[in-house]
Amino acid sequence: MKRVVLLGSTGSIGTSTLKVVEDLPDQLQLVGLAAGGNADLLATQAMAHRVGVVSVNDPSKVDELRNRLPQARVRTGAAGLIELATLPEADVVLIAIVGTAGLEPALAAIRAGKDIAVASKEILVMAGETVMSEARRHGVRVLAVDSEHSAIFQCLDGKPPESVRNLWLTASGGPFRDRTRWTSEALAAVTLEQALKHPSWVMGRKITIDSATLFNKGLEMIEARWLFDIGMDRVQVVVHPQSIVHSMVEYVDGSIIAQLSTPDMCLPIQYALTYPARAKSDRVQTNFAKLGRLDFEEPDPVRFPALVLARRAGEIGGTLPAVFNAANEVAVEQFCQRRLGFTQIAETVRRVMDTHQVIAQPTLAQILEADLWARQTAGA
Ligand code: MG
Repeated sequence: MKRVVLLGSTGSIGTSTLKVVEDLPDQLQLVGLAAGGNADLLATQAMAHRVGVVSVNDPSKVDELRNRLPQARVRTGAAGLIELATLPEADVVLIAIVGTAGLEPALAAIRAGKDIAVASKEILVMAGETVMSEARRHGVRVLAVDSEHSAIFQCLDGKPPESVRNLWLTASGGPFRDRTRWTSEALAAVTLEQALKHPSWVMGRKITIDSATLFNKGLEMIEARWLFDIGMDRVQVVVHPQSIVHSMVEYVDGSIIAQLSTPDMCLPIQYALTYPARAKSDRVQTNFAKLGRLDFEEPDPVRFPALVLARRAGEIGGTLPAVFNAANEVAVEQFCQRRLGFTQIAETVRRVMDTHQVIAQPTLAQILEADLWARQTAGA
């Protein structure tokens, strides 16, 4: 039995994680849950799984939760997340909190000897070097929940970085992939509603916009660089609209191993939680004859500058990836408030990156400082 703490239980990854746990009652048990402000769903989840400790970010929801969950410990804020991340009975901590709030709980979990399963991209983008070296020092695993990184992890199967020629991240290309319809001029006029329509995955709002700009893929490039200890020059992206090939590893001998399935986040979540075992599940079925074909094309760096900016952030490293991430977060929020055009998201990120004084090998405090600086500069 693996005992799981889930940070971010009411979001898209969180609710899928509950399905996985319900599929495997003999193998997985939830021991702690944290959510932002959706106390109602958090209470329902905690009751259904008899969870002993919950944390809600919104302090005004604590009383409501204490009333509904008389048997549970109810915590709040950053301290609540740290308490959950270091819970003595936990084996693995799955972190699916949007934004930067997952970073300190991730490090706390590692230092407490827990394996972590990472769904929040910010953790490895902002502090990949620190997180991976702390994980090595404490002998714990950093498991990927993202479908692409789960795919690469499965394809690598423990092979060392020097056996890899390239990692190939697949990208759906988002709703604006078609270059004849979505010219640079057309992209500049894209509305929020158009950007929120993703062709193959149903996800939260921030990641859906990031998929439309390809910033999501840019963040994943930087994550892959740290997670698999591969230089940025060997992290590649190919557009694959069907989202069946979740990613690939090209080995030095020219052989390519891919991981495929119909898209369902339950699959990579389950693999992260049951690793190294594979648990039986009927949830995902893939029928190649029905699919008929799989397409691939080169991503367009002119219409989607996010990939170029991500490569630069990953190559230069230091505080620049944190700046790349924070500036994008602010720009996406402004786009969602209709204060910024679609193509201005990348323009904002480029402007902020261009004016940043990079600190090489930053401390965690310097990373958080760069994050704050980038937020202020992007918003100005
Ligand atoms: Mg992904």
